[in-house]
Amino acid sequence: MSIKDTICPRCGNPSEEGLCGPCRLHEIEWVTVSPRVEAIICPTCGSRKVGSSWADLESDKESLARSLVIDGIVFHPDVTDHAMEMTIRDISVNRSKAYLKISGKCYGIPVQGEYQVLIVLGREQCDRCCRISGSYYEGIIQVRGEGRRLTEWESRRAAEIAWQAEDAAQQGGDRLSFVSSIDNSKDGIDVIVSSLGIGQSIVTDISSFFGARSTSHPKLVGEKEGKRLYRVTWSIRLPRIVRGDVVSMKNDYYLVSGSDGTTLRTKHLLTQQPRSFRDEETIRVIGNIRDAEEAMVTYHEGDTIGILDPKTHLPLEIPSPKGCHTQAGGVVNILRDGEMLVVVGY
Ligand SMILES: [Zn+2]
Ligand SMILES: [Zn+2]
Repeated sequence: MSIKDTICPRCGNPSEEGLCGPCRLHEIEWVTVSPRVEAIICPTCGSRKVGSSWADLESDKESLARSLVIDGIVFHPDVTDHAMEMTIRDISVNRSKAYLKISGKCYGIPVQGEYQVLIVLGREQCDRCCRISGSYYEGIIQVRGEGRRLTEWESRRAAEIAWQAEDAAQQGGDRLSFVSSIDNSKDGIDVIVSSLGIGQSIVTDISSFFGARSTSHPKLVGEKEGKRLYRVTWSIRLPRIVRGDVVSMKNDYYLVSGSDGTTLRTKHLLTQQPRSFRDEETIRVIGNIRDAEEAMVTYHEGDTIGILDPKTHLPLEIPSPKGCHTQAGGVVNILRDGEMLVVVGY
């Protein structure tokens, strides 16, 4: 042990260098605690205002209060062995108080203190809730069929695609992009959207899913902060014939695997040969394979298959598709074309 003959110039006690520990501690603030912290919260959805913008809150209010208090505590860099106990008590709806016991070590001396922090949660409706409550919208997407009504399945599927796009936008942090409502009309659905961005992505998703065409009609509705405000009406037309439809052409039946609105990609239901042809008015849609019924097979011989009509339970003999090996006791999927039953799957 080396004895240094330095003494503290202030109190005269021994010191390793300059002021002794207690005197140095006296010179500094080992911890500072903000006596009041605050945050602004949306009472409707709980998101938090940060600066001038809003962010969705990842945690509950208790955790928010704790992190606000902790952010208000600053230790002197020479403090080690930090420890803290915090209890929070609610005072009113938007005020609570944190009771803190803080301790540590500074210049070899244990330090501790008790503090109180007032936590104030201000309330303000956020940008998103303002839009929602004001029924704000920037676009309408009208989904219709080309010369026909949407089927129930198509309406449901288009709505699902819209909600999925909203989920993706919200998860991507695009708070102001949402679906305001989806209205069923006689001929299809109307999707009301809060921003042009989400509108465009829903239009793209629905159009590519159904192989549909879309057009957009922007309309200038005013100006805000020097920017022109547009409201857009999109119109999506699902083709007359869509994927999964079974069509009849010149007494042959084809299953449609895709369509770009003018050309149909198909498969001949008996020969299984692929074939593409133009959508013309002479082509008739007899149904969609989603709506096929199951029919019991009674026998199968060569190109002929015997089935029981699931409605009348009467036996019928119909052509068997190439490659179909379903034997008696099995089932095949059929669609009706008037009196005719057509095997569409096996
Ligand atoms: Zn001293
Ligand atoms: Zn809100």
